[in-house]
Amino acid sequence: MTVKFAIHPTTSPTSDAERAAKLVDPGFGRIFTDHMATIRYSQANGWHDARIEPRKAFALDPAVAVLHYAQEIFEGLKAYKTDAGGVNLFRPDANARRFRDSADRMAMAQLPEDLFVEAVEQIVRVDRAWMPGGEGSLYLRPFMIASEVFLGVKPSGDYLFAVIASPVGSYFKGGPAPVSIWVSENYTRAAIGGTGAVKCGGNYAASLRAQAEAIERGCDQVVFLDAVERKYVEELGGMNVFFVFDDGSLLTPPLGTILPGITRDSILALARKQGKIVREEPYTIGQWRADAASGKLREAFACGTAAVISPIGTVRSTSGDFTINGGKAGEVAMGLRKTLVDIQYGRAPDPSGWVRKVF
Ligand SMILES: *Cc1c(COP(=O)(O)O)cnc(C)c1O
Repeated sequence: MTVKFAIHPTTSPTSDAERAAKLVDPGFGRIFTDHMATIRYSQANGWHDARIEPRKAFALDPAVAVLHYAQEIFEGLKAYKTDAGGVNLFRPDANARRFRDSADRMAMAQLPEDLFVEAVEQIVRVDRAWMPGGEGSLYLRPFMIASEVFLGVKPSGDYLFAVIASPVGSYFKGGPAPVSIWVSENYTRAAIGGTGAVKCGGNYAASLRAQAEAIERGCDQVVFLDAVERKYVEELGGMNVFFVFDDGSLLTPPLGTILPGITRDSILALARKQGKIVREEPYTIGQWRADAASGKLREAFACGTAAVISPIGTVRSTSGDFTINGGKAGEVAMGLRKTLVDIQYGRAPDPSGWVRKVF
């Protein structure tokens, strides 16, 4: 790749004392590091002007395409501090690949995968002091917006790619707490031929009303059903879903309209390696209810980068509630979670070569 990053370190870094105070209980997504990576694209110049620079507001013309037609995509991955003091990324190449797929679906310029990974690594390097210890991590948010100043409806000719970083605490304090989920009957997330399989902001905009309904119903999260028959379980607003049965087998909905989660893919690989039977097959909400009642279903869990694995304890819908595993976290979910987290933090062997050491 011929694109070189120009490094412009901040001249007013956050003081050690202020940073330490922010890292005590960072929560999620409100604290940011001192720098960002940016790369621009234009039809005339291709990818150019790669920078590591102080984090600051973008100056955007009010007519830039993203503000009107929502040509926007993003990714989410984490850097983990190892006990030995190193820093690991987990499968950043998979995020880079998915980012290209998202760009393709949204008719956006495709960032070369090595540039994506390099931008992420540069931010981890320059903002290394912001890495929380313990079960915390540095959440990395690469994203890209259509930046052409034009109100006509067409793919933008210009794009701005950026990576920002946010230190985050352990998702669950005191161990994973099972979540309750609301089955959305009024809203769907994705249809065949739509954008459900790509990470675009628009999918989230469209899911917020359903998520708000879940909260109104006293649930933590919403689960969506397919848009055609309105009975097959698809995924949560931002996490994939797995089911564990009494014969030890696992099932997860097939790819197509769901987001191809890297956590989902990693769990499939780990479970298969452990000799478990794993199926990627459609599963209806009715079957879920019946299997929970008969005891055939032992566990259900959601998965994604942010929380890794969240057990599902209760399912609520207009046709009544049911619980799974007595509303408690299950052994299979917790075992897979530990295996994955240990690989991410460099505490366990990494036979699949998923970890990329930055330091
Ligand atoms: C990002 C995302 C996931 C989880 O993907 P991971 O790569 O595992 O973090 C699941 N569903 C949706 C809708 C997402 O946007």
